[in-house]
Amino acid sequence: MAGSLTGIYPGTFDPITNGHTDIIHRAAKMLDRLVVGVAVNAGKGPLFDAKERVAHVEEEIAALGNDFAKRISVKNFDNLLVEFAAENNATVIVRGLRAVSDFDYEFQMASMNAKLNADVETVCLMATDKYQFIASRLVKEIAIMGGDVAPFVSERIVRRLLDRVKRPS
Ligand code: ADP
Repeated sequence: MAGSLTGIYPGTFDPITNGHTDIIHRAAKMLDRLVVGVAVNAGKGPLFDAKERVAHVEEEIAALGNDFAKRISVKNFDNLLVEFAAENNATVIVRGLRAVSDFDYEFQMASMNAKLNADVETVCLMATDKYQFIASRLVKEIAIMGGDVAPFVSERIVRRLLDRVKRPS
């Protein structure tokens, strides 16, 4: 589509949290098309495999309603982010920025990606205050220790986390 703006929102999404869904929702408002890129390589030992994480992100997007869902797609990727962006004709990389902790890393990554492909612009959306402290890593730790993760993820993800960490009683 001529003049249409496509963005990529990359991440691990292990699991997708309310903070991620908020960024997806807000990014989709600004863009014609958004591709959520689920990184196959999720560091050491992801709780959910890449296929499961894509399915979970798709469920959260479906819950945003058709106006959004029809402009958002979800894909696995395991190549360089700027290459994945080019494959999808995306000129914007969307990232979420929480407090000060994310800044160093995001700044460094944006600079390096700009060196790799100067036509792709990184745009950081400020985390919404109520989701500011949500991190997938902590959600996983809480779920594994038997804590309540309902304030941080959707009901769908709560169920999937409970199924995954279920211990024989
Ligand atoms: P990474 O593995 O790079 O940390 P994540 O899958 O955790 O990736 O997150 C993907 C993107 O979403 C990152 O830009 C991260 O800063 C952002 N993000 C994660 N949690 C939140 C949140 N609670 N609010 C806003 N942005 C977030």
